[in-house]
Amino acid sequence: MAASFIDKARITVKAGNGGNGVVSFHREKYVAAGGPDGGDGGRGGSIVLKVDDNMSTLMDFRYKRKYVAPNGMDGQGARKSGKDGADLVIRVPRGTLVRDAETNEIIQDLSDSEPFVLCRGGRGGWGNSHFATPTRQVPRFAKPGLPGESHDVILELKLLADVGLVGFPNVGKSTLLSVVSKAQPKIANYHFTTLFPNLGVVWVDEGVSFVMADIPGIIEGASEGAGLGHDFLRHIDRCRLLVHVVDVSGSEGRDPVEDFDAINEELQQYSPALAERPQIVAANKVDILEPGSDNLDRLRAHVEALGFSLVEISAAAHQGTRELVGQVAQALAVLPPVKVFEPEYISRPAVVDTSVPPQIRRADDGTWLVESPWLERLLGSVNLNDYESRMYFDKTLREAGLFQRLEELGIQDGDTVSLYDFEFEYQR
Ligand code: GDP
Ligand code: MG
Repeated sequence: MAASFIDKARITVKAGNGGNGVVSFHREKYVAAGGPDGGDGGRGGSIVLKVDDNMSTLMDFRYKRKYVAPNGMDGQGARKSGKDGADLVIRVPRGTLVRDAETNEIIQDLSDSEPFVLCRGGRGGWGNSHFATPTRQVPRFAKPGLPGESHDVILELKLLADVGLVGFPNVGKSTLLSVVSKAQPKIANYHFTTLFPNLGVVWVDEGVSFVMADIPGIIEGASEGAGLGHDFLRHIDRCRLLVHVVDVSGSEGRDPVEDFDAINEELQQYSPALAERPQIVAANKVDILEPGSDNLDRLRAHVEALGFSLVEISAAAHQGTRELVGQVAQALAVLPPVKVFEPEYISRPAVVDTSVPPQIRRADDGTWLVESPWLERLLGSVNLNDYESRMYFDKTLREAGLFQRLEELGIQDGDTVSLYDFEFEYQR
């Protein structure tokens, strides 16, 4: 059996590199030396994650694991900037957690509809027209673009539902969801029908509604040896309340009290936190309850003794379902809201190997041009508006011996040092 529900995926994403700036001088017939007019490179495309409510699994990521946004184009003469690379938008189901693949820290919880920029595209390099100043009229240099950020991440689906349906296969979970919401889950009289979760919005009253998730029974996956059902528990752990559906008709020759205990035991074993959620027991299929059967009474006595409430329903005949919905809504009204995970991951500047000394050139106007692959990487990853990042940047340059090299080459106070799109005046 191929489980068609993929709830976890590891992907590699890379934002586009910035395009290069160019060196160019204005040329026109009969006009001799024109001014610098080399345009800047375009920005690389970013990697953006966005919630798509038509997606309910991470299945798409099983086949495609690498996502690369396009690079920015190089600049051109006549001050023409290169085109920016388009952002690459990756769609994910609502409730997807994005984790750093190395540390497992949460980068973002995609629960709301705000697009999230996971990797920023590299900034474009400056063309020589960018460097023209009154004292620097003929800059004969331009800058390469900076690399786009890249990241290995784990996507993990944690359904965003208020209510989770639990219970053995065939007890009527999907039927119940379809009756109380507009969701249209597959309903069939055989096991393993629900291989991916169905979410439905249950309307209660003006302005009152909740989201209910129909997930494969815990037993379904376990009996397949696939652990599928158990994996699901991890994904409904934001649920605020469980509706435990039990078939009391005895139509499949099972005992409702045993079923109820068995499911709770499984829950306890695989997710103690989930097992502690409040439960409302939906005693289903009362329409075909055998006359004289004591199933319903025994189940009621059993669950009430444990402190749970029980509602008799027939999902198929729409009996008792409004009452169940009302009880669920009342219980939810006093429970804390659905958990949204706070980001734990702090983006850090790249750790670079600075053992290869950077290339230092002197432009015609005296500007010190410093270039090196590690410097590109470093600049692509630091946010120079942030004090700590700036300190880290400064420390890395110092440790790499850059300032010492510049001194040896005769740099003077007040000289301009140009590192890609970052320039500063040298002060000893
Ligand atoms: P799930 O596996 O728990 O999702 O169960 P389904 O909703 O797929 O239902 C399994 C079978 O039970 C289907 O044939 C349903 O039509 C039937 N069923 C569900 N609820 C009721 C009910 O209240 N009464 C009767 N008689 N049959 C029901
Ligand atoms: Mg089902």
